[in-house]
Amino acid sequence: MPSTNRLRRNTLFTLLVVALVRVCLAQPSNPQLVDPVIERRVNDLLKRMTLDEKIGQLVQYNASQALNTGPTTAALNVNPPGPNGVDSYQLAKSGKLGSMLNTVGQQLTNHFQHAAVDNTRLHIPLLFGADVIHGFRTIFPVPLATASSWDLELITSVAHMAAVEAKTAGVNWFYSPMVDIARDARWGRCTEGAGEDPYLGAAIARAYIRGYQGASLSAPDSVAACVKHFAAYGAAEAGREYNTTDMSEMRLREIYLPPYKAAIEAGAASVMSAFNALNGVPATANPFLLKTILRGEWGFDGPVVSDYTAIMELEHHGIALDGATAAAKALQAGTDIDMMSHLYDTQLPALLASQRVSIAEIDEAVRRVLRLKFALGLFEHPFTSGPEVTNAVPEHRPLARRAAQESFVLLKNANFNQAPLLPLSGKENIALIGPLADDSADMVGAWSGANNFGDVVTLRAALEQHARQNGTRLLYAKGTDISGSSDVGFDEALNAVRGADLAILALGESSAMSGEAASRAHLNLPGNQQSLLEAVIAAGKPVVLLVFSGRPLVLDWAAAHVPAIMEVWFPGVETGPAIVETLFGAVPPSGKLTMSFPRAVGQEPLYYSQFPTGRPEQFPDPKHPGPVETKYVSKYLDVPNSALFPFGYGLSYTTFAYSDVKADPVHATATVANTGRRRGTEIVQCYVRIRGASVEQPVRSLKGFQRVTLDPGESKSVDFPLGFDALSFFNAQSRRVIEPADYTVFIGGSSTADQSADFQTTAALPKSN
Ligand code: BGC
Repeated sequence: MPSTNRLRRNTLFTLLVVALVRVCLAQPSNPQLVDPVIERRVNDLLKRMTLDEKIGQLVQYNASQALNTGPTTAALNVNPPGPNGVDSYQLAKSGKLGSMLNTVGQQLTNHFQHAAVDNTRLHIPLLFGADVIHGFRTIFPVPLATASSWDLELITSVAHMAAVEAKTAGVNWFYSPMVDIARDARWGRCTEGAGEDPYLGAAIARAYIRGYQGASLSAPDSVAACVKHFAAYGAAEAGREYNTTDMSEMRLREIYLPPYKAAIEAGAASVMSAFNALNGVPATANPFLLKTILRGEWGFDGPVVSDYTAIMELEHHGIALDGATAAAKALQAGTDIDMMSHLYDTQLPALLASQRVSIAEIDEAVRRVLRLKFALGLFEHPFTSGPEVTNAVPEHRPLARRAAQESFVLLKNANFNQAPLLPLSGKENIALIGPLADDSADMVGAWSGANNFGDVVTLRAALEQHARQNGTRLLYAKGTDISGSSDVGFDEALNAVRGADLAILALGESSAMSGEAASRAHLNLPGNQQSLLEAVIAAGKPVVLLVFSGRPLVLDWAAAHVPAIMEVWFPGVETGPAIVETLFGAVPPSGKLTMSFPRAVGQEPLYYSQFPTGRPEQFPDPKHPGPVETKYVSKYLDVPNSALFPFGYGLSYTTFAYSDVKADPVHATATVANTGRRRGTEIVQCYVRIRGASVEQPVRSLKGFQRVTLDPGESKSVDFPLGFDALSFFNAQSRRVIEPADYTVFIGGSSTADQSADFQTTAALPKSN
């Protein structure tokens, strides 16, 4: 049909033009940083600075050099003497400190800020950076949990709340969002990010930046974001923390870079370099990442801060034989701020004198730091005053509860007495069992800001209140610890189960089992919890298993034997009420997994967007029939290739059905209907498969999603724009192109959606990017 072909060609031509225009207009990523007024002020200041003052801007310490980094930041305000003899306060007073990390609280930050502003010649204020990852005092669910809501507006609000609270405590810079794609559940830091998918990861990265930075960096409720860890940290080999990464440029650009790029395009004001090496070059001394891509291609004008002692670690990587070389390599690659390595301050003067680094290189780094300080309005408002938030804020709790509820993923809900076990009626006498049922410390997850554990409402507390209000009985028994092999509590737990109508088991990881330095080689329930679970199931009562974890666990036994399973992650301060309202049906679960849950740890790294093989597990390919082969195919002998619970998967208390999937290069549509008896929210997902292109493409890739709430019997047509972004891919020359190819669009409620529509593109296009 010539007219259809002409239409396709015209459409593709338009997509090409849009893409070319975008590439040609390489704009500064955040105009606020390079505002002409700011540039003038930066240049004026630079002219007046001594070398020591310049280097000082590139130096970062905490208030206590003995303080280690790491997810447990409860000791943020401790200030013992530093191991390398650095006294941050004296440095601040003499203009030799540019920023501080994890130094929070009005009193403490003002104390240091006065030293910097009142005592120094040029009165340059300090930046106060902190690991505010999922809430400051009001702790929200861990990021992998909120990602499971697929609710961008919610994530923006959560991020904004954290900014509002932390700003009152003098913090103006968040080491967040962590946008590392994580496809290996062994890597504990998957809890800090949005999961395995670049499209979703990019959307969530933008949502965080909006929440932290708002419309203006200088607004009283804005903080500067620091996108981390640049780049590809999540691809650490074997899921082992800090391990090396190695990948093709095609994969880097297609899978790992999109969330960082999205954050930069959304205006992220700073970037943190990663600990890992990428293709043999540590990220902290990697000019391809920091100069070619970040600054050259993406137009980033803000500062890059190293990760904690990462410049010093260049020696451990073996690419520097001494601290001086490490400092020179990091600076010249584009790392502007030295976090805790004690190398820029000690090595740069001599490096400059011996002409191993130039003053232009130092000036460029200083310029980037000063830009951020001006853009934040720190020169005008260096100090913090007004009421300080020191505990979870009551007004912020409803958002924390909603975030927890939207993050829960119902993994299984089998029938019990001819009806799904969940939601519960409210009339049951319940046995609450497990080490996480009455545990407030672990509910806040890794990187729990400056929380107070007393702010957490545990599941036990909320269920007790529910029982009191409903005249039912709650029998609680811990059963066993999170780790260890003890079974001394089993009898008490089993007695409780026998005396109840139903058991709720709260099992899983401790918060310290995910986050930084928390890789695991086994992904099962730790300690003796599996035995406890099996013993409770053997007692014959209906069981609801709540899984608390910062990562996907291997739940194969539970999936086969437990009637109802809900992943609740680490839900934060509103843990108890959020779970209780969900279990009893006041709020239906709606979360969908953003990381695949494996059947066995040997499947890792496991992700839905696999590349095809010449010998797929399902052989022959339905489109290319051939003899049925079962032996010489890409598979394991002992488990299927598929995830136990795949990306995008999650149940509700109702059911949804899909029909009328249609697609062309510009958009795709489908009808989704609520076919059950309850109101529910579905996350409708749109995936694209490309076949016939010059480089092989994943079996499917997410290209759109929408949260849709429907009453029973109600249906809705959903529309996903496609176009250049959805149809293009990186070819072997690292250029983003659309080629003549066959496209299949799948729309449904998970990455295994089976309703699809096909179309073709007919022209070889574009050359750019
Ligand atoms: C972590 C970063 C964190 C930094 C500062 C490092 O160990 O990798 O994510 O922002 O410490 O605490």
